[in-house]
Amino acid sequence: MDFASYIRDIEDFPKPGVVFKDISPLLKHPEALQKAAEALLGFTGNARVDKVVGVDSRGFIFAPLLAEKLGAGFVPVRKTGKLPYKTIAASYELEYGSGSLEIHSDAIEKGEKVLVHDDVLATGGTAEAVCKLVEQLGGEVIQCNFLIELTFLNGAEKIKQYQKKVLLQY
Ligand code: IMP
Repeated sequence: MDFASYIRDIEDFPKPGVVFKDISPLLKHPEALQKAAEALLGFTGNARVDKVVGVDSRGFIFAPLLAEKLGAGFVPVRKTGKLPYKTIAASYELEYGSGSLEIHSDAIEKGEKVLVHDDVLATGGTAEAVCKLVEQLGGEVIQCNFLIELTFLNGAEKIKQYQKKVLLQY
C-alpha cells in the first residue's frame, strides 16, 4: 500500500515555517488504517512484548491497537499534569519548542520488554525522553517504532542505541 498518499503536508502548523505531517487521511481510511497497523505489528515479529508505550497524543492511536494484538499492556506517556497517580518526569527539546513528559511510576515492572510507539520521529527529543523514562522504571526498550521519520531532523541519532522501525521516511 502506498501509505505516503494518505499523509498530507500542512504548512505553517503549529508554527510558521513548520511543515506538519498530518496522518488524519490515513486514520480515516479503513484499509489504510488496517494496513498501517498490520505493518507496525510486523516490525516486532515474534519478539516478546510486555508493554506498549504510546506517546501523548497521536501515539495513543496505534499503541493500544498494537498492545492488543501483541498480548501486551498499554502505557500512556503524557504531557505534564495529565496523569492522576504518582509519576516520574523527563524534559525534552522539540522541533517546535520544549516540553516535559510523565509516566506513572508503577506503569512498568523491572525487566519488562517495552515497545515504544509514536506517530512521528522528528528531532528525536521526545522518543529519547520516553525511552529514558522506561529505563528509569527498569524496563528494556526492545524497539521504537513510528509511522513517519523526518530524516532531515536527525532524530535517529538521538535514539541510536535502540532498534528503530518506521513505515515512511521523508
Ligand atoms: P521530536 O521530539 O522532535 O522527535 O518530535 C516528535 C513529536 O512531535 C511526536 O510526538 C510527534 O507527534 C510530534 N511531531 C513533530 N513533527 C510532527 C509532524 O510533522 N506531524 C505530526 N507530529 C509531529
